[in-house]
Amino acid sequence: MTCPVDGRPLSNNATICPGCTETLDRALGDIDALLEDLDTALARQSKKRPARGNHPRDDKPLPYDLGASRAASELKAVLVGWARLVSEERGVPLTCRDTSQSISAWLMHHVHWLSRHDAAPDAYSEIVGAVNNIRRTIDIAPDTTYIGPCYAVVEGVECTETLWGIEGTDAATCRTCGTVWDAKARTLEALTHADKVAQTITVMTRSFAVKGIALDTRRLGKWVSRGYLHPHGTGDRNRPTYIVAHVARLVTLYNAGQKLTPWNTEQDTPA
Ligand SMILES: [Zn+2]
Ligand SMILES: [Zn+2]
Repeated sequence: MTCPVDGRPLSNNATICPGCTETLDRALGDIDALLEDLDTALARQSKKRPARGNHPRDDKPLPYDLGASRAASELKAVLVGWARLVSEERGVPLTCRDTSQSISAWLMHHVHWLSRHDAAPDAYSEIVGAVNNIRRTIDIAPDTTYIGPCYAVVEGVECTETLWGIEGTDAATCRTCGTVWDAKARTLEALTHADKVAQTITVMTRSFAVKGIALDTRRLGKWVSRGYLHPHGTGDRNRPTYIVAHVARLVTLYNAGQKLTPWNTEQDTPA
């Protein structure tokens, strides 16, 4: 008899081989740290989101958040299922708490028993598969940056898919309509919708940098003194704040080599 997972020899009346049993054990043991990494990745990702209220369509959960929470809830469902089977068939009470971390720690005491169960190959593929899915979700997180809605008009309909930038790549391709955008230009364009977000120059420089756009603070100072940019209010330590959309618009004009103009007051109070 050989292991149905990888064809290696079986021993000790087990249904899966010692190597697969160890992989299963390791997957369960990694869950604690992996879920912590997933939380970190999610927190990092949410910091990349522009301030809320830029645009009503920005309120829907981001695909990454959805993918991450789906991976986490799938893992939990798999663990609950196998823990119940072990508890019922071995007649041992489920003493763990209702969290993936606690259930996986409990299951680790029963891996040896599980490796001899008829359903061991299923336990292996479901548990190791769900854990690997968490790993993949963590891996893709640091590479993606939120840009904003696609807005491409395809056959008269505006595409509302969320655009993602990939670090080190200039092009952002929409996953729904396939439109290829210039990631930086689109990021700036999305920022020109942030007409209710006011930030100090210090904060704004940081939030633009996160999106891959370097702000020249000396140039911003010049724009202020020439009257292209007007303070909106005051922020931290009484420093003046400016509207993000106004700055993004000036940077766009500047990058395109166009003449700078002050923000039109009609644009200032959008309907
Ligand atoms: Zn095996
Ligand atoms: Zn699109």
